[in-house]
Amino acid sequence: MVTAHPDDVDFGTAGSVAAWTAAGSAVTYCVITDGDAGGFDPEVPRDRIPGIRRAEQTAAAAAVGVSDLVFLGYPDGSLQPTLDLRRDITRVIRQVRPDRVVTQSPERNWDRIFASHPDHLAAGEAAVCAVYPDARNPFAFPALAAEGLEAHTVGELWLMASPRADTFVDVTDTFPQKLAALRAHVSQETDRDGRLEARLRDWLGATAALAGLGPGRLAEAFQRVATT
Ligand SMILES: [Zn+2]
Repeated sequence: MVTAHPDDVDFGTAGSVAAWTAAGSAVTYCVITDGDAGGFDPEVPRDRIPGIRRAEQTAAAAAVGVSDLVFLGYPDGSLQPTLDLRRDITRVIRQVRPDRVVTQSPERNWDRIFASHPDHLAAGEAAVCAVYPDARNPFAFPALAAEGLEAHTVGELWLMASPRADTFVDVTDTFPQKLAALRAHVSQETDRDGRLEARLRDWLGATAALAGLGPGRLAEAFQRVATT
C-alpha cells in the first residue's frame, strides 16, 4: 500500500486489507507524508505531530493485521511526483518485492473531489512510475543497485478512488476492523460527530450496490491495472 497521508489507507482499503491478512497475505504500508499539515489541536506543538500520526497509523494497521510500516517522512501538503519520491518508493518495492501494489489514483475523480487531494494524485503518480518502469528496470536509480536492491516486477496495480473502478472487494465481514482502524486516528477526530459508522455504511453500501452485491453488503472499489 502506498498512500500520501496517515489514514488514507484506512478510508480507502482497510476492509480489503483485513480480508487479505486474514487469508494469509503479508501487507506493508508505505506512508509518504506524516500528515503534519492539517486539522490539529493548536495546543499541540507542531514538531510532535509526525510522531503522533505515525503512532496512530501503526495502531490502525494493527487493527487489520498489518505490522510492517514504512514512513518516508515527506512534508504534508506539498507532495510532488519527483524523481526523489519515485526512487524512495522504488526502494521499498525492491525491499518488500510485492505481487501487488495498491495506491491512490493519479487520475482526478470529479465525482468525489475530496478523494483527489493533490497529495493523493502525486502519491499515485509516483507509485505508478515506481511500479512501471522504475522497480523493474535494473538501470533505474543505480544508487539502489549499489544498496544491493535488485530489480523487481510488480504484477498488478490496484488504484483507490479511481473514476474507473472495476474491481470490488466485499468488506462486510471486516467492517468492524476498518472502523477500529479509522477510530485509531484519534488526533483527526474521525468520529467527531458520532456518525462515522453511518457515513461509512452509506458509502460502502452504495459501492456494494454498484458492484451488484446484495442488500446490506459493504464493498471497497479499485481500478485493477495489469502491468505485465
Ligand atoms: Zn489523504
